[in-house]
Amino acid sequence: MDAVAEAGPAIDPALRDAILDWYAAAGRELAFRATTDPYAVLVSELMAQQTQAARAAEAWTSWMARFPSVEALASAPVADVLRAWAGLGYNRRAVHLHRAARVIVAEHGGRVPSSVEALEALPGIGPYTARAVAAIAFGEPVGAVDVNVKRVLGRIVVGGAEGLTASSMQTLADSAVPRDRAADWTHALMDVGQRVCRPRRPNCADCPAIAWCAYAAGVRPAALVTGGRTGARRPEPAFESTNRWLRGRIVERARDADGWTRFDTSIGVHGPGAVRAAVIALARDGLLDARETATNLEARLPR
Ligand code: SF4
Repeated sequence: MDAVAEAGPAIDPALRDAILDWYAAAGRELAFRATTDPYAVLVSELMAQQTQAARAAEAWTSWMARFPSVEALASAPVADVLRAWAGLGYNRRAVHLHRAARVIVAEHGGRVPSSVEALEALPGIGPYTARAVAAIAFGEPVGAVDVNVKRVLGRIVVGGAEGLTASSMQTLADSAVPRDRAADWTHALMDVGQRVCRPRRPNCADCPAIAWCAYAAGVRPAALVTGGRTGARRPEPAFESTNRWLRGRIVERARDADGWTRFDTSIGVHGPGAVRAAVIALARDGLLDARETATNLEARLPR
């Protein structure tokens, strides 16, 4: 039996109310939180992944002016979509969003589907995004579990996310959602994770969950107490040395150029061979068009 099963009823209704009250008083006012339009929510959820929320909100406002509907996005060229995504990073998300819009138009009559299963079947839409869209746009009582939510719920119930299996975490997250306030709950948990229950040095004194929280009471899951592998941290490589950084610079260069651009020299610490491999991989992922000339590899934004 795992920790959640042993813990019994996982989320006290009073804890739920405390988090929702805190959110009503102190939640962040982000532009995309004012809407439950399914397309707008889908855009915001993809933008907010791995991008700071305030920055994503700013980009979301411009995006919705540029592509106000699923149809507008689906009919745009990939190059325009990548240009509109500039500054958000992880360009593959833009390509996925564009492909998803085309599938929504072709297979769902231009309406974003409401079930988790149908949302997950869209290109590039994973379990977290599918559940967040279902909860926020359609009020479905499903828990969207990302790294923040894992940390918050795990700490509250067993003192740390390491104490729960993935399926227990999902069961816990689903059971925690108030039936009539799925959207507010999804936003509220996200804010608790980003504003008070930070990965290091959580600010328990300002947290609405403190009276119910195992972590705040000093409880730690066994994996942390015994110093098992889950508690070990590997040093992070310098960002400029990562493939992610290189891919971002290549797309930026193609976006800034008007037409075919040569990629035959080093970029940062990455030699010509690594640059070449990254360009080919980006073309395979649909983020670039690439061609070999007699002496060079050239690429541009897809047409
Ligand atoms: S009381 Fe502390 S550890 Fe518990 S959820 Fe709040 S910030 Fe996180």
